[in-house]
Amino acid sequence: MSFAPASGLRRLTTIARLSTVSVTLLLGVLQAGQLHADPIQQTKGSFEDKFRQLDEALPTPNTWRNAAGQPGHEYWQQQVDYRISAALDEANRHLSATQTIDYQNNSPDTLTYLWLQLDQNIFRNDSMAELSDDFGGIGRRGPAVQAGDADTPARLSLDELRRQQFMRDVALGYEIASVEDGQGDSLEYTIVGTLMRIDLAQPLRSGQSTSIEMAFSFYIPEEDAVSARSGYEHFPDDEREGGNDLFLMAQWFPRLAAYTDYEGWTNKEFLGRGEFTLEFGDYDVEMTVPADHIVSSTGVLQNPNDVLTATQRERLEAAESAERPVFIVTAEEALENEKEATTETKTWRFTAENVRDFAWASSRKFIWDAQGYQQGGDVQPLVMAMSFYPKEGEPLWSTYSTEAIIHTMEVYSRFSFDYPYPIAQSVNGPVGGMEYPMITFNGPRTTLQDDGSRTYSLGEKQFLISVVIHEVGHGYFPMIVNSDERQWTWMDEGLNSYLEGVATREWDPSLDWGLEPADITDYMRSQEQVPIMTQSDSISRLGPNAYSKPAVALNILRETIMGRELFDFAFQQYASLWMFKRPTPADFFRTMEEASGVDLDWFWRGWFYSTDHVDIALERVYEMRLDTENPDIDYERRRQEDAAKPASVFVERNREAGLQTWVERNPEVRDFYDDNGYYTVTNRDRNRYNAFIEGLEDWEKAALERALSEDDHYYVLEFANHGGLVMPIILGLTYADESREEIRIPAEIWRRSPAMVRKLIVSDKEIASIVVDPNWETADVDIENNFYPRRLIPSRVESFKAEQSGGLGGRDLMQEIKAPLRTDDDDDEPEDDDQ
Ligand SMILES: [Zn+2]
Repeated sequence: MSFAPASGLRRLTTIARLSTVSVTLLLGVLQAGQLHADPIQQTKGSFEDKFRQLDEALPTPNTWRNAAGQPGHEYWQQQVDYRISAALDEANRHLSATQTIDYQNNSPDTLTYLWLQLDQNIFRNDSMAELSDDFGGIGRRGPAVQAGDADTPARLSLDELRRQQFMRDVALGYEIASVEDGQGDSLEYTIVGTLMRIDLAQPLRSGQSTSIEMAFSFYIPEEDAVSARSGYEHFPDDEREGGNDLFLMAQWFPRLAAYTDYEGWTNKEFLGRGEFTLEFGDYDVEMTVPADHIVSSTGVLQNPNDVLTATQRERLEAAESAERPVFIVTAEEALENEKEATTETKTWRFTAENVRDFAWASSRKFIWDAQGYQQGGDVQPLVMAMSFYPKEGEPLWSTYSTEAIIHTMEVYSRFSFDYPYPIAQSVNGPVGGMEYPMITFNGPRTTLQDDGSRTYSLGEKQFLISVVIHEVGHGYFPMIVNSDERQWTWMDEGLNSYLEGVATREWDPSLDWGLEPADITDYMRSQEQVPIMTQSDSISRLGPNAYSKPAVALNILRETIMGRELFDFAFQQYASLWMFKRPTPADFFRTMEEASGVDLDWFWRGWFYSTDHVDIALERVYEMRLDTENPDIDYERRRQEDAAKPASVFVERNREAGLQTWVERNPEVRDFYDDNGYYTVTNRDRNRYNAFIEGLEDWEKAALERALSEDDHYYVLEFANHGGLVMPIILGLTYADESREEIRIPAEIWRRSPAMVRKLIVSDKEIASIVVDPNWETADVDIENNFYPRRLIPSRVESFKAEQSGGLGGRDLMQEIKAPLRTDDDDDEPEDDDQ
């Protein structure tokens, strides 16, 4: 906005008035402070700069991470390669393994010890996770319990009782048999909860590498009992289910903790929520399993001739160029396979390059389908999309799982980079949804009906599609853009949920996928909110905090603040700059600003560092008309305005009562003022007006005359920020002629006055109504104060019949005591008295 020269400005102050409120219009410059009503007091003495730059809060840039949010010119990360040989003892649900770890120290530092993650130790009864479990506490992981209080009893779900019993019965956690260096000499080690420090015989200098040999074993947890991210599932030993186990193996081998430039060793105890901070490396893994098992694994199968039949190998080849998924193991073959177990074993061998983890699944129940995704490009032109599931997942899985894998890669690659691995898999198991490089575990099943068919609800179908998209999407974030999951859940879950929202809406926008701005308003107004920038284990409600809120925040950045072109370019920059590297929050914040040229510090502060919410209210609207300064026109207008005001109720009732005034009773007693009053124009007024017009510069006269001839409507809109978060103000205007217009005011309008601002709108048309955020883009938690004028709030009411009071004393014992005891023979009778 540019200002008029000071002299002209002062003079104009006296002349151009807006009539309905006593406000002075400086031909385009409004003195908002002079509006007569000012209901909102700007906080005095504690002004908070919502636009304060973020650099003072972010880590200082250095040669490893630069100020542009890019890997610096001396960026480094460690390399850790694994050779593992594992044997699954199905009968005892026990896994034993040996592994060789090759550790390459690319850091500038000398290391005298290495830290490893022993995640299986979280299941020990004396683990910190178990001991620090807050009974019934908010955000607790695991089966349902309720703490209760004086009026309500505490509750333990049967799931929780099963968990307690399983943890008591099975000695979970690692058994470490040996730790040796490359020469076969034992190494000293210390176990600290879920971590293990191995002391090196020689200091490991920058640029050097060392080898560790380990032998370890553990009892595999029953996933349904302990609610873990991996484990076995046992199917009921009846005709319907057919018994048998399904194994999902993850966090199964001692893995190196990451050594980083920003934190040194990332050796923070595993408490269950904060996931895994890992190094990239190459893997060569063989697993010996019952001969009738099918194995799905991270990596590429190296010995198909040893473990697959000729038919299976032919089907796999045909699947590479198939239009739709092809069965490698059909439902009938899997059913046959299930019928009797074998004591024979087979060894499957997989290798994977440049992955940050390794997981696998094994069962004789697996149906297997596959389809080649012709990605094109030089990186990985063909990716095999494959799904593994027991009959309990049919027919849902064969219809949608592999299709959803391919859809995920099509969408995610467009927003980031080509999928760089040769395999992408979805495996059904007891884990609701979990991700590893090239392999994901996903939960949805179907229901067996009495007629032998299997059915599923729309919700289950939607769950399967969204969970496959979500978990396969993790193949990009954090499996390739390797953020620190133990610290920042939002960096993988939030970014991934944002892209999941893109992919699900490209799958079928008629379904509600739960990632629209309006879906997070309940959370954002709740007392359980903590800043997104909170370490994973301290977050009360992980779902809305680390998934939907950051996902919606990015959605808003793209659609409302930056625009698709700038956002997509910046997001792609971030993804490709940090591909196969380890970004921190600051790197993300900086890259998004650097690449887009949009100052987003206010956005990161508000959405990621605070618990403010969005609630912008349109408090008042002033409708104004420019005074002509000609007394013959303006005085008459004022008379009309006065006449439009309601008359005094007191005077009206006097009149109704027939009371005559003194003036009416004495009409012959008159003077000059009975014919002249406030609005009488005198020649003195006219002379002053003529002199004023003559005194105007030519440009001043032209401006006034034009404004008067156009006779526009001037509106001043007064906004209050009740939620604290500053956001763009989006206005939907409806004019008296029913035409509509949208006006988008940048968030920067709040920069000096974050609690209250006013906006002038000049229009040649009369405004009939105004709505703030008409498309629900900003996650405004109270939309009712967005309407001007306020609307009738649409709502529903239900009639209901009051329930009778119950309790032991409320029973009609005299009648109920007559009821006979039911036996098995009565099975068909309805339980009519059991409400
Ligand atoms: Zn996730």
